[in-house]
Amino acid sequence: MPNVLPQAPARASRFAAPDVFATLRGQAAGTLLTPADAGYDEARRLWNGMVDKRPAAILRCTGAADVAAAVRFAATAEMPVAVRSGGHSISGHSSCDGGLMIDLSMMKAITVDLEQRLAHAEPGLLLAEFDAAMQMHGLATTMGINGDTGIAGLTLGGGLGRLARKHGLACDNLISAEVVLADGSVTVASERENPDLLWGLRGGGGNLGVVTRFTYRLHPVGPTVLGGMLLWSWSDAREAMRAYARFCAVAPDEVDAIGVLLTGPAGDPVFAVSTLHVGAIDDGERALAPLRQATPRPRHDAVAPVAYAALQSAADPMFPRGRRYYWKSHFLAALPDAAIDVLMARFERVPSPLSKIGLQLVGGAISRVPPDATAYGHRNAAWDCIPIASWVDAAEDAANIAWSRGVWEEMCSFATGGVYVNNLGEEGEDRVRAAYGVNHGRLAALKARYDPANLFRGNANVPPAVATAP
Ligand SMILES: Cc1cc2nc3c(=O)[nH]c(=O)nc-3n(C[C@H](O)[C@H](O)[C@H](O)COP(=O)(O)OP(=O)(O)OC[C@H]3O[C@@H](n4cnc5c(N)ncnc54)[C@H](O)[C@@H]3O)c2cc1C
Repeated sequence: MPNVLPQAPARASRFAAPDVFATLRGQAAGTLLTPADAGYDEARRLWNGMVDKRPAAILRCTGAADVAAAVRFAATAEMPVAVRSGGHSISGHSSCDGGLMIDLSMMKAITVDLEQRLAHAEPGLLLAEFDAAMQMHGLATTMGINGDTGIAGLTLGGGLGRLARKHGLACDNLISAEVVLADGSVTVASERENPDLLWGLRGGGGNLGVVTRFTYRLHPVGPTVLGGMLLWSWSDAREAMRAYARFCAVAPDEVDAIGVLLTGPAGDPVFAVSTLHVGAIDDGERALAPLRQATPRPRHDAVAPVAYAALQSAADPMFPRGRRYYWKSHFLAALPDAAIDVLMARFERVPSPLSKIGLQLVGGAISRVPPDATAYGHRNAAWDCIPIASWVDAAEDAANIAWSRGVWEEMCSFATGGVYVNNLGEEGEDRVRAAYGVNHGRLAALKARYDPANLFRGNANVPPAVATAP
C-alpha cells in the first residue's frame, strides 16, 4: 500500500469551471488561485516530492474570517477540502485533487504574553519561525526536530520534540485554540470553553475543525543549552547502540537523545546520536557523560554549549523540500539487542545514501499523562522508530519504498502496536485505529458532534460515530 495518496491523472473536476469560485473570491480577503493563475503551481506544492495533487482552487487565507468563508463555501458546494499549514504532511493530506485547498501558510502572526508565559500563534508558522520568536525571550515550548515543519499539523497530531520528556508534547502545552468548525462558525476550545473539543485537538489530527490560533504554555529554555552530535563508526555501531539503549533507559527528563543510522560524510554507514540537555550546562555535562564516555567511545563528539534555536534546525539540511520520501513508523517500548541487530542488518542493505532509520526518544513527562487524558494516547512508548526512505529519482521508487516497508515489517515484533498519527501514510483503517488507540471511540463521538458530514476528511480520518437506536 502506498503511503501517499495514489496520483490520479489530472481529470476534469466538476469544480473546474472558471466562475465556480466567484462567490468565494468576493467574500475572502485572501488570494484565490486556480490552475490558470500565476503562483498556483508553487502554492499547491507540498514538502514530499511524491505528492503531486491539483486542487481546483487554493484560498490563501488571511485570517479566521477567510477560513470560515472557505468552509461554508465548500460545505454548500459539497466540495472536497484540504487544510494546509506547513505542508509537511508525509501522506500529502494537506492537498487534494479537484477540491478546495484552505491554505493557512500566510497566517504567521505571533505574540508572546511574557507575564503569563503564553504564546498566541497562527497556524502558518513553521517551527524555526516559532522557536526564533520565543528564543528572543529565552522561552520555548515543545516542537519537532525539523525547523521547516508547520506548528499546526505537528501540534494537532501530538507533537514529539526535544523538550517533550521535560515539558510534555506540543499538544500537552496547547492550552487553548481558536477553531473554525464544519458549519463555518468560529469557536474557542480551552479547559473552560468546549473542553471536549480541546481534548480532541490534542492529538486528534485535523478531524474536528480548522485551528486558526494556538495558545501554548511556554518554559524558560536556553538560549544556550548543551547538545550536539555523537557519531560511531559502523564497526562500533552495534555496541554503541546497546550503550545508547542502556543510557536512554535511565536518562533524566532533561535529556533528549535521538538515535540515527545514516550514511556518513565519507559514504560509510554510521550510528549517530543527536543529544540535547535542557538545563544548566554543568548539569548537562554530568547527564550526557555516560553516553559520551561509553565503550566504545564515539569517533566524533560535537557536544558543546550551543544556541537552542540552532540545535532545533541542525537537521534541516537532511530533509529538503521536494525530494522523494516514504516512511512508516512504530512505537517501541524498549530497544533490545535483537531489535538492534535487525536495524543494523536492514541498514546495511539501504538502497539510497539519503535514507535513515530514526529512533526518536519519548517517555519522561509524556508518559506521566494518562493515555485517555488527551486524544494522543501513546504514553507508554520509549521510542518512535522510523525507517525514512529518501531518494531523488522516480525510477528508484519501488526499491526505496520496499526497503522502508521491509524494516518496518521486521520490527513489528518489537513494536507496541501503536503508531504516531503524524508519521502515518495511507496505510488503511486498521492503522488509523492503531494511531488513535483507546481514544478512537471518543474521537468518533466528537466527530459526529462537530463534523457530522465528515467535511474534514483529508487527514488520518475518524468517521463520525453512528448513533445507535436506544
Ligand atoms: C522532515 C520531517 C520531520 C518531522 N519531525 C517531527 C517531529 O520531530 N515531531 C513530530 O511530532 N512530528 C514530526 N514530523 C511530522 C509532522 O508533525 C507532520 O508532518 C505534521 O503534519 C506537519 O504539520 P504541517 O502543518 O507542516 O502539515 P500540513 O501538511 O500542512 O498538514 C498536515 C495535516 O494536518 C492538517 N492540518 C494542518 N493544519 C491544520 C489546521 N490549522 N487545522 C486543522 N487541521 C490542520 C492537514 O489537513 C493535514 O491532515 C516531521 C515531518 C517531517 C516531514
